[in-house]
Amino acid sequence: MTPVHFLGLEGNNRLYVKREDLIPFSFGGNKARKAELFFQEIDKGGYDAVVTYGSASSNHCRIVANQCSRRGIRCVIVSPEEAYIPTFNSKMTALFGAERITVPLERVHDTIEETVGTLRKDGKKPFFIEGGGHGNTGTEAYVRCYREIVRQERDLGISFDWIFLASGTGTTQAGLVCGQLLDHDDRKNIVGISIARKNPRGREIVLDSIRSYLGTAADENAIREKTIFIDAYTSGYGREENGIQKTIDDVLISYGLPLDVTYTGKAFRGMREEIRKNKIEGKNILFIHTGGTPLFFDYLEKR
Ligand SMILES: *Cc1c(COP(=O)(O)O)cnc(C)c1O
Repeated sequence: MTPVHFLGLEGNNRLYVKREDLIPFSFGGNKARKAELFFQEIDKGGYDAVVTYGSASSNHCRIVANQCSRRGIRCVIVSPEEAYIPTFNSKMTALFGAERITVPLERVHDTIEETVGTLRKDGKKPFFIEGGGHGNTGTEAYVRCYREIVRQERDLGISFDWIFLASGTGTTQAGLVCGQLLDHDDRKNIVGISIARKNPRGREIVLDSIRSYLGTAADENAIREKTIFIDAYTSGYGREENGIQKTIDDVLISYGLPLDVTYTGKAFRGMREEIRKNKIEGKNILFIHTGGTPLFFDYLEKR
């Protein structure tokens, strides 16, 4: 269970943070929580190789590569061609011995199939993990996280009115919303701040993850009502938004909490803007720190 603690007042709201960045493996983060479940399947099934997708600097690839190195099994990462700038994540991923195959975006799908096929021919038993740990297993990880939050609310004797988080592939948000729907609790507003995708597609992808996880239990109206996906604070994946440094510096200085330019910085800034725009006052707000600590150091190094 990751800690929830009080950060301070934002406006006259009480702001708390859930520290997913403190999951005790390889700098934590939401990819660490998702990977725990994927690797339970991998261990149970006796898989001895993992294929996944992601950019060299991704948190997901760092975690998956480290889970593989810990087990001494092969890890093959298919990456899109990109301007390669070494980062703390890409250096660690290489250190963990992951093999990288870089291909143009349109070749990614076929390359994954070919890689899985080649491993099988070599007598391996490969397991494929979607980019970012997307899919029902990743969603399940955040259904469990939602249940942790409910327990922590009881322990603290409070209840959160708003939850804000960075939303990328949408699995983390989908899991939290599924947790809420399964709990028949509609008090909270869960707000995903997009770090890349624009609407309507961005929100549709979150909705699809929720439908896929809930299956026949899905109530379309309830799902739509509870899925808030805001695309106003991003101009694309990995893009550094104007003024984001101010948010990151300010949050580090006043709360001692490291953020990054790709995910948590955008989400924190979006949360502040949404509090202001919607005139949210006197509420309990939870910010989910989804991790990415190595990206904070990339920021610091450039600063
Ligand atoms: C991947 C990632 C996200 C986005 O999570 P999704 O489940 O893909 O929406 C948010 N924050 C950090 C630090 C991440 O690494």
